[in-house]
Amino acid sequence: MSALATQTGAINLGQGFPDTDGPAAMLDRAVHAIRSGANQYPPGPGVMELRQAVSEHRAEHYALAYDPAGEVLVTVGATEAIAAAVLALCEPGDEVIAFEPYYDSYAASIALAQARLVGVTLRPVEGRFAFDPDELRAAVTSRTRMILVNSPHNPTGTVFTRAELTVIAELCQEHDLIAVTDEVYEHLTFDGAPHIPLATLPGMRERTVMISSAGKTFSVTGWKTGWVCAPAELVTAVQTVKQFLTFTASAPWQVAVAFGLRHEGEWIAALRASLQDKRDRLMDGLTAAGFEVFKPAGTYFVQTDIRPLGFTDGLEFTRRLPELAGVVAIPTQVFYDRPERGGHFVRFAFCKKDEVIDEAVARLKRLS
Ligand code: PMP
Ligand code: GLN
Repeated sequence: MSALATQTGAINLGQGFPDTDGPAAMLDRAVHAIRSGANQYPPGPGVMELRQAVSEHRAEHYALAYDPAGEVLVTVGATEAIAAAVLALCEPGDEVIAFEPYYDSYAASIALAQARLVGVTLRPVEGRFAFDPDELRAAVTSRTRMILVNSPHNPTGTVFTRAELTVIAELCQEHDLIAVTDEVYEHLTFDGAPHIPLATLPGMRERTVMISSAGKTFSVTGWKTGWVCAPAELVTAVQTVKQFLTFTASAPWQVAVAFGLRHEGEWIAALRASLQDKRDRLMDGLTAAGFEVFKPAGTYFVQTDIRPLGFTDGLEFTRRLPELAGVVAIPTQVFYDRPERGGHFVRFAFCKKDEVIDEAVARLKRLS
């Protein structure tokens, strides 16, 4: 879809990446790191400064203690962390539960491990995408090995509540499952909605592989710097796979992200506030343009239903959208195991300058 935007000159509200840079002092740190020699292979688990900063950050925000010497692993973005965790911890034939729609790398990582993805569908309930606890319980079998939990959730914008996380935590303990949590949008929550890491629930730290990344927190998606926090045994397993995927992650970004985690808390707070305004701006515009709009509590995506505009197939709609309105969006059905369940949903990103959102909205109003 980004290629389609480039070809057609359409405004790209598809792929999730910001159109403004991260904190200037952190960018300067990356330049400085390159200039001062951080240009050779860092240690396999990552630059110690970053592992330390990640550990401090987990302690400060979530009161979770991870030892930087054995319980933190730096990866090439969250994507590598997810792939390495699934490959390390699943045997062929194991089942992995993931909430559908899900970030597209999950299905591919699970397939690479010759495991089987079992989708539990999030459906709109009073304007918010949620799962049915009974459906989740019914998805667990004797082959279930892992639950992949993404909150704040791409592409629906749902932030799981403590009650929802408790259902997941109880199942994990009852059936001895590992939880892999994708928390890349941990700081992008709105209206005061708290992000609660699953590992903070009783009995969960020891069975949770907690994953995050600098890309969304600091608007540097191109840096591909992520990390895993988990008990040492689990981290060792993940690192054993990571060693032969990439061995180690790029050095300069690690030094700079360590700086960001330690010094850019105010910048992150300002990003969150600005994204909340952008969410409201885009939601108001999409509503005025005739879409049904679901209010996200987190991430930088808005989910819409296109049926009020007289369309039924999101794939066909988004393929035609550059020509119909000069805008690119993502058909949500690509995030489903069973695309028909999400056929009429379309995702728009709002991590864009206000004038870009306004222009996109003006164009989308031509649809009705
Ligand atoms: N998980 C989710 C839910 C995402 O939206 C993204 C960003 N595309 C990722 C993982 C990947 O993060 P990274 O760029 O750090 O690999
Ligand atoms: N997470 C972003 C999205 O869902 C981009 C990642 C990607 O394009 N693979 O749009």
